[in-house]
Amino acid sequence: MPKHPADYDAVVVGAGFSGIRSLWELRQRGLSFKCFEAGADVGGAWYWNCYPGARTDSEAWVYTLNFAPEIREEWNYTERYPSQREVQHFLGRIVDKFHLREYIEFNCRIKSAHYNKETKLWTITAGNGTAVTCQYFLPATGPLSIAKAPPFPGLKTYTGEWYQASNWPKSDVDLRGKRVAIIGTGATGVQIIPKIAPAVKQLTVFQRSPSYVLPGRNYIIDQNQTQEIKCNFDATLYAAKNHPNGLAMKPSGKTVQDARDADKVRQTLDAGWEEGGFHYQFETFDDIFTNAESNETASEYIRQKIRAIVHDPEVAETLCPKYPFLSKRPPCGHFYYEAYNRPNVKLVNISKQEIDLYEKGIRTTSGTEYEFDVIIFAIGYEAATGALSELDVRGLEGKSLGGNWSKRIDTFAGCLVPGFPNLFLICGPHVPFGNMPVVVDIQVNWIGQTIAYMEQKKLACIDVTENAVADWSAELDETFKVTVFAESAKASRSWFVGANIPGKVQTVLFYFGGVPAYTAKLEREISAGWPSMRFIPSTVTNGVGHDVNGI
Ligand code: NAP
Repeated sequence: MPKHPADYDAVVVGAGFSGIRSLWELRQRGLSFKCFEAGADVGGAWYWNCYPGARTDSEAWVYTLNFAPEIREEWNYTERYPSQREVQHFLGRIVDKFHLREYIEFNCRIKSAHYNKETKLWTITAGNGTAVTCQYFLPATGPLSIAKAPPFPGLKTYTGEWYQASNWPKSDVDLRGKRVAIIGTGATGVQIIPKIAPAVKQLTVFQRSPSYVLPGRNYIIDQNQTQEIKCNFDATLYAAKNHPNGLAMKPSGKTVQDARDADKVRQTLDAGWEEGGFHYQFETFDDIFTNAESNETASEYIRQKIRAIVHDPEVAETLCPKYPFLSKRPPCGHFYYEAYNRPNVKLVNISKQEIDLYEKGIRTTSGTEYEFDVIIFAIGYEAATGALSELDVRGLEGKSLGGNWSKRIDTFAGCLVPGFPNLFLICGPHVPFGNMPVVVDIQVNWIGQTIAYMEQKKLACIDVTENAVADWSAELDETFKVTVFAESAKASRSWFVGANIPGKVQTVLFYFGGVPAYTAKLEREISAGWPSMRFIPSTVTNGVGHDVNGI
């Protein structure tokens, strides 16, 4: 006899890193499940973001799934920062190796998820009318999957081609010999610009704010290094899980404040800069996150590098950010600043003026017109809350998740939302800021253990107490407050506080207390017997919850 009349124990939405990791977890726990994916293949962000130059900013050895020892056999990345194509293929090999593909329905975008208090089940409905019921709902819809729509009224009059980086066509886009504009100089724009510059006739970059771009220093991983990485797989992932941002890097234990000697400071920053990528902020001085003066030292160092690389002093100065380093997520560049030395690359500073599109291209408020054959939008995402706010998710009393989140975002450790029983968030708001595959692994492991507990105790529903949510909100604020960029993140329109989307509630969207502290919190919850939760046993049919902890 089935324990409930649902179609599945669990439904997962999305087949990127977090969706795939969830499918594996559910199967290990002996549950029935189904996954719906809007794309035609697995990958999530790594399926859609096939724009020129797309590759990871985290190193290959930590940007990986690791739920089973056999994964290292499939680990065949060939570059320090794997390309979009490699990451997507890796995920494809994983779902095939572990026979997870058969559970995924592709080309199926979910439109709504409604909770029924009487049946204690979720009904998940797709755009094509398919509807299924389940006990546990696991949206694995990604923290950066809903692109900001181009907010330019003139777009409808523009007669040239235009593309959104996050939804780049699967067929080749021929940019050769064309006059191309790109709007946006975050991590996405920074990857596209040097990649397409050699092909196009003229590339015009519309920059509202500059980024602090760290040199990626990508390289090919040869067989010897592959061997070494595979041998050290477990140790590397252990190191990543013990790093505040989920990377296999070691905090230096040094501070700019203690160093005092300017030459020593420069030497250390040189070493981080030469190592490439995120080593610059994580392995040089620990206090650049918390001390304004130290942060300014690291910021000015990057500005000096920009001035040294870019030949035209005026262009160099326009590329130099003035806000504190780390107020926005720094991108990894691959000869990004060097691209501005090309005669066919032009930088237009739009920090003090608006732009709009017109029939032939882009017009600034000062009246200058630029004609283009192609315009590329790389203007960012509605981070953390975007995908779930877009989905019509309704919990107890028909309350809308997106509606709630337009005013205030409450969760328990980014896993549960009060009033939305059996909804397990994955990689939504309030997870640690850092390398997402590592964060996903920790989070999904906790969700798996929680579901296993419910199954074992025959509990129909889990909801989180308001006190636990309030404690978590306080912890989010406390840990963010100590960073040097708590205020400047808002002023510089950073997505990790929601400030990049006009009208969005501005609050810290990620946990800055670090991966180890996050893991410890989740482990404490389990070892103490889920004290932050209210459960409803399967026998209760009127939907009124009571605490079964201690019954
Ligand atoms: P982003 O960092 O939010 O950058 C968006 C850019 O568009 C900014 O330069 C922004 O300027 C500009 N912009 C937005 N609205 C505009 C407007 N109305 N007019 C003119 N300019 C406008 O977005 P992103 O580059 O897509 O990156 C988002 C995140 O995705 C990254 O931080 C990263 O975490 C992730 N990502 C990762 C990778 C990777 O790992 N390889 C690659 C790409 C993206 P303002 O700053 O002035 O608002």
